[in-house]
Amino acid sequence: MTSLISESFEVAPKATPVMADLPKEHFIASVMEDYDVTCWGCGLHLLLPSHAPVFKCGWCGALTNQNAGKRECKYFWLRRLRDRCFVCILLMFMLFVICGGVWAAFPVLFSISYFHGIFHSIITFILSVATVYTFSSASFACAGTPPCVVWGSYPAVGKGALENYTFCQLCSKPKSPRSHHCRSCGMCILDMDHHCPFIGNCVGAANHRHFIALLISVVTSTFYISVMTMYVGWHIWPSITYEPFDRSYGYGSDFAMRAIREIIYGLLKSVMLLSPRGLVLVYLFVSSVSLGIGLSILLWQQLCFIYEGKTYLNHLNDGVGEKDCQNLVQFFGCPYSFSIYLPHCSLSRFLPSFRKKTQRHKK
Ligand SMILES: [Zn+2]
Ligand SMILES: [Zn+2]
Ligand SMILES: [Zn+2]
Repeated sequence: MTSLISESFEVAPKATPVMADLPKEHFIASVMEDYDVTCWGCGLHLLLPSHAPVFKCGWCGALTNQNAGKRECKYFWLRRLRDRCFVCILLMFMLFVICGGVWAAFPVLFSISYFHGIFHSIITFILSVATVYTFSSASFACAGTPPCVVWGSYPAVGKGALENYTFCQLCSKPKSPRSHHCRSCGMCILDMDHHCPFIGNCVGAANHRHFIALLISVVTSTFYISVMTMYVGWHIWPSITYEPFDRSYGYGSDFAMRAIREIIYGLLKSVMLLSPRGLVLVYLFVSSVSLGIGLSILLWQQLCFIYEGKTYLNHLNDGVGEKDCQNLVQFFGCPYSFSIYLPHCSLSRFLPSFRKKTQRHKK
């Protein structure tokens, strides 16, 4: 360590206390002695003009928090169990929707015409495969590991090499400024957006596109299911019977209310006469409409964040992004399937004016 100390004086690194994190007395106290501290990033001994719990190394740029303790990740296994249960329940729900929809709707569709049956079979197959595939990709792919960097020894760590890096006590390794530690995944995630319990995984740099593709696929599927169940329901719904209206009271608001009441009553009576296939169709219609509305809002919010050039966590931390359509072009880069297998064949290579100097998802 003696050599390290002498090296630290040769390069004369100056540590900068991070004022925002200091209590007020640190600003006004007169300093009589220097404080000797060690930077975790380059291992150099630094001299602080006053005691500071958080300081920035003048050589490598790493931030050291002397008060950061290793907080135990309680209930980690419980979170993993919850995530796995959610994933299993969602997969079973998807299978139920696909199988239930096919069982309830396809006999009716084929009875209308073979063209209807074959057309809807193709659409159902494509949407089912797309949804299950994007769900598996978002759920089981790694959400994004932070870049590996050299740290811990002075000659190896260059000047400014760890600019604004912090040290993750839970992973025991450097954490880049764009990374966050997820307690549910038990690791640091690059460009973490949020931890989604429904896919049992974080949404980060590596699977954000899979997640958006999943949302688009599910929203399209729910829209298709609601239209298809309405269409099939129209063909199999029992005839609705109404009580004859008494028109002696006139055609005022009272008449309108009674008419609406009669229609609802007639509909409820006809539901009682529905076959099990019809009841499954009603359930699929209600659940697909409600799920579609909720996920459309989530998709819209996600696209807005991408347009603004930030993630959900940035948004919570008042992160400032740059609003630009180029963010969306850069995010989707090239056709979805090609980007996974041919990461270097991005469409943006052919659109030089769309390239930005700072890649948001650069690893
Ligand atoms: Zn340092
Ligand atoms: Zn971590
Ligand atoms: Zn996570």
